[in-house]
Amino acid sequence: MTRRRKFWGWGWEDEVISEAQRKTLGAMFKAQFPAFEAHELPEPTIDDIELPAPRIQPPSSLGATVSAGKYERAAHTYGKSTRDIIRGANRRFDAPPDLVAFPKTEQEVVDVLDWCARESVAAVPFGGGTSVCGGVEAGLIRGDYRGALSLDLGGLDRIEEIDRTSRAARIQGGIFGPALEDGLRPHGLTLRHFPQSFEFSTLGGWIATRSGGHYATLYTHIDEFVESLRVVTPSGISESRRLPGSGAGPSPDRLFIGSEGTLGIITEAWMRLQDRPKFRATASVKFPGAGGFLKGAEAVRLLSQSGLYPTNCRLIDPMEAQTGGAGDGSAALLVLGFESADHELEAWGSRALEICREAGGAFEAGALKTRIDAEGARGGEAGAWRQSFLRAPYMRDVIILMGGIAETFETAVTWDRFEGFYHAVREAGERGIARVCGSGRITCRFTHAYPDGPAPYFTVMAPGRAGSQLEQWDEIKAAVSEAIIKHGGTITHHHAVGRDHRPWYDRQRPEVFARALGAAKRELDPAGILNPGVLIDPARR
Ligand SMILES: Cc1cc2nc3c(=O)[nH]c(=O)nc-3n(C[C@H](O)[C@H](O)[C@H](O)COP(=O)(O)OP(=O)(O)OC[C@H]3O[C@@H](n4cnc5c(N)ncnc54)[C@H](O)[C@@H]3O)c2cc1C
Repeated sequence: MTRRRKFWGWGWEDEVISEAQRKTLGAMFKAQFPAFEAHELPEPTIDDIELPAPRIQPPSSLGATVSAGKYERAAHTYGKSTRDIIRGANRRFDAPPDLVAFPKTEQEVVDVLDWCARESVAAVPFGGGTSVCGGVEAGLIRGDYRGALSLDLGGLDRIEEIDRTSRAARIQGGIFGPALEDGLRPHGLTLRHFPQSFEFSTLGGWIATRSGGHYATLYTHIDEFVESLRVVTPSGISESRRLPGSGAGPSPDRLFIGSEGTLGIITEAWMRLQDRPKFRATASVKFPGAGGFLKGAEAVRLLSQSGLYPTNCRLIDPMEAQTGGAGDGSAALLVLGFESADHELEAWGSRALEICREAGGAFEAGALKTRIDAEGARGGEAGAWRQSFLRAPYMRDVIILMGGIAETFETAVTWDRFEGFYHAVREAGERGIARVCGSGRITCRFTHAYPDGPAPYFTVMAPGRAGSQLEQWDEIKAAVSEAIIKHGGTITHHHAVGRDHRPWYDRQRPEVFARALGAAKRELDPAGILNPGVLIDPARR
């Protein structure tokens, strides 16, 4: 039997959250927030929920490509943000897409879009549906559409061609992370783009959202790996030329990278690949004391300006490190890693540790571990933190079912503003949490680092009130988003804009640019059917 993804939460339907897991997590949450009154909302089943009848019927011309099935509509109603999980857990499915299309060929994508344009039906591209900013939420579409269709691209899941000489591959947009890596592995190749959502997200989704992945420096976003794109738009197909670099005017790929399904459907991409790494050097450095996180930040600044370009350079604040099973909460932890398919890395690792020591970091003799491997062996504090990182989305579902709040938000800011920015955003978060939840906490880590600034990533945990979690989170999120924009950050470093970030994105982007983007939208999507409400509003509506 084919494995199905949960229609409301993270992961597979058959990965049921055990009673023991619930109890352990409940006890941990209660220990941290003694006032918290957990409630026992069971996981929803598909029989628990009701959907409104579809406003439109599947057209016979599109045959089996389009479904109005209950599970299909429910599973395409939301992405995977905390707002989405809260509504799913509470069985709120009042605005699902009317239809879901499952094209298996590019021609079927063209046919579905043609039908949507003719019938005035909004089309919402859907990769893995792991959006955390309302990017796939058809129910939020306003205007004079007759209905909304979720366009699931999971059927476009093939690696079509590999160019070993140039080290690139032509890959369809709907392929999921694991299948992509499985297909490249026999060739000794890898994309090495590992967002936390890797297992359940797709290449097209990564490109459409400018996803941030494995590399903490240098190749931080998927953008760097895109060699060329093939995009189906309602006005025709755009295919860019494969080139290692080009100065021929503004890049067509840059128009579509990050376009979040508003300008066209990414059906194929030529992606730049890596040889599978063989040499690895890793180390964990502690920055003890009250100012440990800021000392660690200074080390990251020096490292990111050193030209060493560590693959991993994750600074984790003391409380978050402790929650992840790494350390006792008395020191910030910097997880450093270098990798290469070509050369040993001891020199890089040793120099990086010297930089950390100069910035106040502490590490034990022999902290630098170098390996010629056997992929993936990870131990120690860095390994413990990584394991808990991958389990976190499953745990979030449990916390929400208990009535808690667990969510992240992320940004980037230049180094000159970092310290003031960090304090302001943290304080806004703390004040918001105290106001709406009474108690709670906010922690921070860096996911990516640049020579001119870091990408801080914040996690909020708070005891919610059953029935009010959505409003509580919305208030906290608005408070931190205001602080981010006021103090010079971006409303998103890699989670994309979607619908949820629009109020702040609209203030962040230059007005003239917004008009130019609107003009591009009118040209590529004249009927305004593609993902209305995301990034930019279609003019006609
Ligand atoms: C637990 C968790 C961890 C996460 N970790 C990370 C992380 O480490 N890094 C990161 O960057 N993000 C992360 N995310 C966010 C999310 O996984 C990314 O935004 C991801 O790139 C979305 O891919 P997807 O295939 O699921 O796309 P979807 O969620 O299905 O779609 C995202 C957007 O892209 C559009 N779209 C999708 N496919 C196409 C296509 N083929 N053509 C055109 N438009 C398309 C959709 O319309 C939508 O606007 C995480 C999310 C969760 C829930």
